[in-house]
Amino acid sequence: MTRLNRTHAPELRSWVHGANGADSDFPIQNLPYAVFRRRGSDEAWRGGVAIGAQIVDLDALLRSGVIRSAESAALKLAAQSTLNAFMAAGTCAWSQLRLQLSDLLAENAPNQREVAGCLVDQAQAEFRVPAQIGDYTDFYTSIHHATTVGRQFRPDNPLLPNYQWIPIGYHGRASSVIVSGQDFRRPCGQTMPQGCDVPQFGPSRRLDYELELGAFVGPGNALGDAIGIDEAESQLFGLCLLNDWSARDLQGWEYQPLGPFLSKSFATTISPWIVSMEALAPFRVPFERPAGDPQPLAYLDSAFNRRLGAIDIELSVVIESAAMRTAGVPAAPLSRSNYRHAYWTLAQMLTHHSVNGCGLQPGDLMGTGTLSGPEPGSAGSLLELSQAGKAPITLAGGEQRSFLQDGDRVILRGWCERAGATRIGFGEASAQVLPARVL
Ligand code: CA
Repeated sequence: MTRLNRTHAPELRSWVHGANGADSDFPIQNLPYAVFRRRGSDEAWRGGVAIGAQIVDLDALLRSGVIRSAESAALKLAAQSTLNAFMAAGTCAWSQLRLQLSDLLAENAPNQREVAGCLVDQAQAEFRVPAQIGDYTDFYTSIHHATTVGRQFRPDNPLLPNYQWIPIGYHGRASSVIVSGQDFRRPCGQTMPQGCDVPQFGPSRRLDYELELGAFVGPGNALGDAIGIDEAESQLFGLCLLNDWSARDLQGWEYQPLGPFLSKSFATTISPWIVSMEALAPFRVPFERPAGDPQPLAYLDSAFNRRLGAIDIELSVVIESAAMRTAGVPAAPLSRSNYRHAYWTLAQMLTHHSVNGCGLQPGDLMGTGTLSGPEPGSAGSLLELSQAGKAPITLAGGEQRSFLQDGDRVILRGWCERAGATRIGFGEASAQVLPARVL
């Protein structure tokens, strides 16, 4: 999975117009997957792969016969209306199709005319959640987020004692995972404002975003079995951007003793594109613990995880308010972070999740938790940036924000770059807050 091959070669270029620019998220070294159709059509949903500003329509590619039927098993799975069967097929199938697509899209490839006939402009496409997600689990793997948020509630004891030993998580709600571009209503619920002794019911007044990555599970494990840390990497299909919208006032009242419930289950936005673990191979970095911190228990430790368990993914959040849209002001930056700061790796999350025999299934989604970095400007939520509303931030254009207002659009972006490799990106995860439904 993490071995480099000819699909990663930085000198590789595509014949597809616009795929070779230095700023493109989708050069030939990336080849992420989505499920799409032409916008406004009643075409069947099918798998697609991004190249430049185009999509390779995998169903059209299958029907074109460019890949001979004896070699098209992986393509057949990836062309379906959800990616679950392809995710279940495992690393050999994933690598086979990546190599086939890379060879077809590379400069000087044969069959360019046939493959060009399978391209759809991304601007003309609509997307949906690319897998039938059976279960969504959200983790809490940024120690910077956990410490900053913990300090707001427990100034003397911000980090709970289990944090450095267990990848903390909770079971989320799969039915409210939505794809980028789908707007959602501000949730209503119970809150207990300070100084009150009876809760109030109404629209959340402390709506927030959370900058996260999502990981899609591959083949998974049978109930009662466990995935060992050495197998965990081959169980990971790929990553997307994930915004775990959070109603902080609902959360503050409901979360004890069982954790978040309605404060999280109204919307979780993911990017349409899933970047494969193989595409991320050039950007793996060591998993490291600060000096003096406990080392993971043996079942969460491996030589590979120490050497290359983390991933260097640069992340950004920008906001566009209704006023900014009206005035034509570009979206304003909120924060910048990087996934390499996470306290637990994807392999550790997945291993811990299944160690009790919990079955993971193809297409299950795991959120990393809010990916705040060590600097104040790298906080992945408004709760942190505005110090729970005590220090509102000023946006470019002069508006202030403690929490999100109706009409605000939040856009997450992610990309990987380093010397000696071609930059790849995740596209974006974007959604707008609509006014609460009046009950
Ligand atoms: Ca979260």
